[in-house]
Amino acid sequence: MPEKNDHYYMQLAIQEALKAQQIGEVPIGAVLVCQDEVVATSFNLRETLQTTASHAEMLVIDKGNDHFNSWRLEHCTLYVTLEPCQMCAGAIVQARLKRVVFGAFDQKAGCAGSLMNLLEDERFNHQVEVRSGVEEAICGQLLSDFFRSLRQKKKALKEKNRDEQSQPAE
Ligand SMILES: [Zn+2]
Repeated sequence: MPEKNDHYYMQLAIQEALKAQQIGEVPIGAVLVCQDEVVATSFNLRETLQTTASHAEMLVIDKGNDHFNSWRLEHCTLYVTLEPCQMCAGAIVQARLKRVVFGAFDQKAGCAGSLMNLLEDERFNHQVEVRSGVEEAICGQLLSDFFRSLRQKKKALKEKNRDEQSQPAE
């Protein structure tokens, strides 16, 4: 039953997201599964690598290409904790993926249903089946916790700088 397994594989993607969080990256994780086998796992590394394309989905597709020695990943399902952006959705279509399962919706950048749906657009030569909202609460919580703590850190830093500046000069 693929629906049953979706939760299991999304848990693996959440583990990947936690790895990103541990190194200060926005916590987004991805897992590539082919015929009930985990082919690749990855997580967002944009800050670490300082490359625009190092989103979790792009990295996991890269690994999948290496694994199969093919640009076509037509029997694979990609699990990702956050709705894919336009770049990743584009790559997912190009890779001819069979299915995408995502956790949280991204109202500001999501291209698998929120802003648009690149994956199921009939005008393209390939459509990707989408299942959304799997483990949505956990995936979303990870992100909101991360951004809250980031804001708190920034605020603390700002206050520290202000205090230092207001010290009387010797
Ligand atoms: Zn992306």
